Amino acid sequence: MDFFEFLDNSVTPSHTVAGLVSAFRAAGFRLYEPMMPARIEPGKGYCIVRDSSLIAVRVPKSVSQFPGFRIALAHTDFPTLKITPHPDRVSCGVQALHPEIYGSPIFTSWLDRDLGYAGVLAYAEGGEVRLKTFRGDKLFRIPQLAVHLNRGVNQDGLKVNPQTDLDALWSVVTGEKFEDTLRAEIPEGAKLLDFDVQLFDAQKAARGGFHDEWIYSGRLDNLSSCHAIAEAFIASEPLENDFAVACFFNNEEVGSTTREGAGGNFLKSVLDSIVPNLDAALASSLALSIDMAHAVHPNFPQKHEQNHAPILGGGIVLKTNSQKRYASDVYSNARLKLLCEQANINCQTFVMRNDMPCGSTVGPTVSAALGIPTVDIGEPMLSMHSIREMTAAKDHADMISLLKEFYREKA
Ligand SMILES: [Zn+2]
Repeated sequence: MDFFEFLDNSVTPSHTVAGLVSAFRAAGFRLYEPMMPARIEPGKGYCIVRDSSLIAVRVPKSVSQFPGFRIALAHTDFPTLKITPHPDRVSCGVQALHPEIYGSPIFTSWLDRDLGYAGVLAYAEGGEVRLKTFRGDKLFRIPQLAVHLNRGVNQDGLKVNPQTDLDALWSVVTGEKFEDTLRAEIPEGAKLLDFDVQLFDAQKAARGGFHDEWIYSGRLDNLSSCHAIAEAFIASEPLENDFAVACFFNNEEVGSTTREGAGGNFLKSVLDSIVPNLDAALASSLALSIDMAHAVHPNFPQKHEQNHAPILGGGIVLKTNSQKRYASDVYSNARLKLLCEQANINCQTFVMRNDMPCGSTVGPTVSAALGIPTVDIGEPMLSMHSIREMTAAKDHADMISLLKEFYREKA
């Protein structure tokens, strides 16, 4: 699966899951919605989709009485601006769309960018509700105020009020509603019932740095992890005794407590359906919660704890937090360190400064709900939650190697 193509195509969680599903199907996995089939076959691969989340399972060669799970977790969503149900506003000769904030984007990074729009449309056809994933082919814009009209901007910083300053300009005044343009995407005669549409950065992913050592793209958090997991998972063989599992959850950026999120019952219901004694199997299992990590910023080194400041290109980041914002503990950390050693990969450690709040991941949620030992790791990156982020190509390659080791039979 080409990384840059995956980044460019994954403009909403629904597009991300569609891309993952086609990669898994091309590798022989069978697709089921919304549950695992009642009968599963040794050595075979299955994909289960719930909304914009996906779980892939590879059954071991022979299913013994005491199987384990090797689970990798990542999220498919990213901070964005969602188009509200009634978004239309007309001001000063321009039609604009009023968005609602999803997650915690850096607002200023959305200004003066070429913005695409995409999402899911729900329409009625033959008395049934049907869904369609679509991507518009026009570009919108949230222009900045000129420096001449905002003289203090360089001294005071750019402050963005998300209610009043982020309406996206999309058209000259025609009297047309945004919803009218969406109708062109559904079958003729069908009735548009609802939509879930978001804006995205339309610029394609690119290599950067004098030696092409970096990757610049939107949505690296957490598409980079989704890609690494899928790459390694598809390349690996069925295990002797363990189920290999890859989870791609929506809604991490808004707390995961949704039907399709890591806080919902999706993973438990899938695992429950494939082993009779789930608790015993989980206790002897391991989960890697994979989400991007904060590399130390060369212009702001003081923002990191000095002995726990991962560098770009320095290897996989192990995230620990005493307040348990990360799931990592002494046992799961040790498992990860051993895995890195076996894969010959450098491991860096991240600990947040005591005077700054720590972020979180799906790791603690899944670990607590299932009782599975879990370690939080990630590729180091800069500009997290900006519309355009940055990571190191070497760290992405390392993550794929680590996951291949994770999904490989021990010698
Ligand atoms: Zn993330």
